[in-house]
Amino acid sequence: MNIIHTITELRAVLQKKRNEQLQIGLVPTMGALHAGHVSLIQESVKQTDCTVVSIFVNPLQFGPNEDLDQYPRTLSADATAAETAGADIIFAPSPVAILGSEMLTYVDINTLPDNLCGRKRPGHFRGVCTIVSKLFNIVQPNKAFFGQKDIQQLKIIERMVLDLNYNIKVVPCPIVRNADGLALSSRNSYLSAADRKAAAILNQSLKLAARAIETGEADAARVIDMVTKNITTIPQAKIDYVSLVDENMQDVTKIRTGTMLALAVYFGKTRLIDNHIIGENIRF
Ligand code: AMP
Repeated sequence: MNIIHTITELRAVLQKKRNEQLQIGLVPTMGALHAGHVSLIQESVKQTDCTVVSIFVNPLQFGPNEDLDQYPRTLSADATAAETAGADIIFAPSPVAILGSEMLTYVDINTLPDNLCGRKRPGHFRGVCTIVSKLFNIVQPNKAFFGQKDIQQLKIIERMVLDLNYNIKVVPCPIVRNADGLALSSRNSYLSAADRKAAAILNQSLKLAARAIETGEADAARVIDMVTKNITTIPQAKIDYVSLVDENMQDVTKIRTGTMLALAVYFGKTRLIDNHIIGENIRF
């Protein structure tokens, strides 16, 4: 496996692959790779001939009081994990390589960020779209792999690809969870032992809601109330949002197949997100 830090070198290596008619897969990440990321890499290895894993802690997607400085940076462990999963290339550019000294151009998207994480983290998805857009232009992959863990991000990237005519197939990948159901996240490492244990409530609450919906409950307000009450049985859990939304990220009143139950909850300063798409298999 090749670890590449510059855009020039990456472009040269990938041009050769394209000349050999190889299909390129991109797995964009911020590093601190875990089994969730590995599942995306494995899917890319299955579906393409050359898998590029980008590792870039994107400053543009962090708010002023968020955890940019604290975010784990573990390149050598990431290299081992990516290589074991079958990746061909790690692209780990420096902030300057990606952002230059001053950016004047950004990629933004209307309405889809107005709810959920976009509402709570102003500018977050502008930062995501800008950097993913740059990665798409640099790597020019045939396919790009994104986790359903970040469901709003996935929907936004799908729309950006459509609107900006990227010739890239976005492949959604299911959420990978710990044995107790907690969705894997690089931010789980911030949790104290007590909070880590308590965080299983998120998945339990999704499961509770999914069961109620499966057995006929279709009223969004009642399900949100049920989930909220369940989470607040844990004193240290502070709800940021619990929402039921349609594919346009708009709140719904009536739950249907495809409605998304999404939540964000703080444990101390650590903000965790999770979701369940109604009608999909629950992987708990
Ligand atoms: P991140 O490094 O957190 O920006 O995530 C990089 C990619 O991995 C995104 O497409 C995420 O949705 C995906 N991802 C993160 N955690 C998980 C998980 N537990 N299961 C599946 N995909 C995930």
